[in-house]
Amino acid sequence: MTARTAGFTTIVLGAGAAGLMAAATAGQAGARVLVLDHAPHAGRKILISGGGRCNFTNMDTGAGQFLSANPHFAKSALARYTPADFLALVQRHRIPWHEKAAGQLFCDRSARDIVDMLRRECAAGQVDVRVSHRIIDVTRDGAGQYRVETDHGIFHAPNLIVATGGLSIPKLGATGLAHDIARRFGLRIVAPAPALVPLTFGAQDREWMEPLAGLSVTVGITCHEGEGRLARQATFRDGMVFTHRGLSGPAILQASSYWQPGQALDIDLLPGIDAGRRLQEIKRDRPRAGGVAMLSMLLPQRLAQLMAQAHLPDGQLAGMPDAVLANVGRILSGWRLNPHGTEGYVKAEVTRGGVDTDCLSSRDMQARDVPGLFMVGEAVDVTGWLGGYNFQWAWASGHAAGQAAAERGG
Ligand SMILES: Cc1cc2nc3c(=O)[nH]c(=O)nc-3n(C[C@H](O)[C@H](O)[C@H](O)COP(=O)(O)OP(=O)(O)OC[C@H]3O[C@@H](n4cnc5c(N)ncnc54)[C@H](O)[C@@H]3O)c2cc1C
Repeated sequence: MTARTAGFTTIVLGAGAAGLMAAATAGQAGARVLVLDHAPHAGRKILISGGGRCNFTNMDTGAGQFLSANPHFAKSALARYTPADFLALVQRHRIPWHEKAAGQLFCDRSARDIVDMLRRECAAGQVDVRVSHRIIDVTRDGAGQYRVETDHGIFHAPNLIVATGGLSIPKLGATGLAHDIARRFGLRIVAPAPALVPLTFGAQDREWMEPLAGLSVTVGITCHEGEGRLARQATFRDGMVFTHRGLSGPAILQASSYWQPGQALDIDLLPGIDAGRRLQEIKRDRPRAGGVAMLSMLLPQRLAQLMAQAHLPDGQLAGMPDAVLANVGRILSGWRLNPHGTEGYVKAEVTRGGVDTDCLSSRDMQARDVPGLFMVGEAVDVTGWLGGYNFQWAWASGHAAGQAAAERGG
């Protein structure tokens, strides 16, 4: 028996988080849905997410936790499909979960629970999910039908939901297909770049960083995005880890989403502490201590040694001029480092940039000038912070497009 190639009202490209959600939503609303993916299994990124436990949402999700050239774009979809909606789905499927850090929800058992749930939701909508299908060409004919040519045949439908994600983790099947399709249909692309990714440093910095590899410290980093009326800033207070190539850890991953080549990073090594005043207190209480002993009270030993060597004279604190301590205080509160680059798409959890939101309707993710073409998930220029926000965007944008595609019908 040959598989059906006609009669679909919606084709979804990509069986990842956003694609499966869009397909299930459309199918359950009456659309006849086909999902195509080139990977051998659906939801592969979900399976490795959150250390295998999938941080499937964040209860505090709002547009403020996303980067985008238009910071307002995500509001509509996020408001219409909320973390509470996804949690209700998880609970309906009796998937055990727990809250790890504030608002971050994870599976108790395994991320597979989420993939299985989405598969069951697709089955409930009679969605036809086909994996190991290589997409060869995507066009639209004069009658407004999308034509998807694959190595297993040609498929047609009046609605096309593009959910093939970004460029992160090519070995899991990531490609630039969504961006290529967008360009082909005249949609603009905001330059993509690796995000939520470790930062690398040049040879000179690596020389002094190398002995610190593995060391972890809680830091504060303030990041800036946009200009003028759209300018926003965010401060992340979280762990930073020295690696053999540079810096990683949650605070650095968050900062990487904002970082632009050539920019410096100002790292507060003592977040929430008035460093200058604290150094003066230590000098008063322990005048015979040396610089390393003083900084060891505030920083891990190896980092304290490095800082003392670089910025403090030898000798007891009693003999150290206040101006020297004040200067070290300023350095500790705003340690300026100059990243060289990032670990790239091989290590990036997400891709920032993507399909320009100006070309899409924020209500249903449909291309403004191309009826029936929808762009969802990571393919779009909406990038979440670390902590479950990216999946919530995938669910919300997928849901919005799935509903609208079903309403358009065929
Ligand atoms: C290691 C890691 C851990 C993560 N952990 C979390 C987490 O815990 N919480 C969180 O919120 N986010 C997490 N993320 C981010 C999250 O996985 C993504 O934001 C999310 O998967 C994006 O969903 P999507 O459906 O847009 O894309 P994807 O999930 O990437 O799905 C895209 C699908 O399209 C298919 N595809 C791509 N190109 C083609 C092509 N040319 N032809 C056919 N099919 C194609 C792919 O095979 C894939 O199935 C993590 C990411 C990584 C890499």
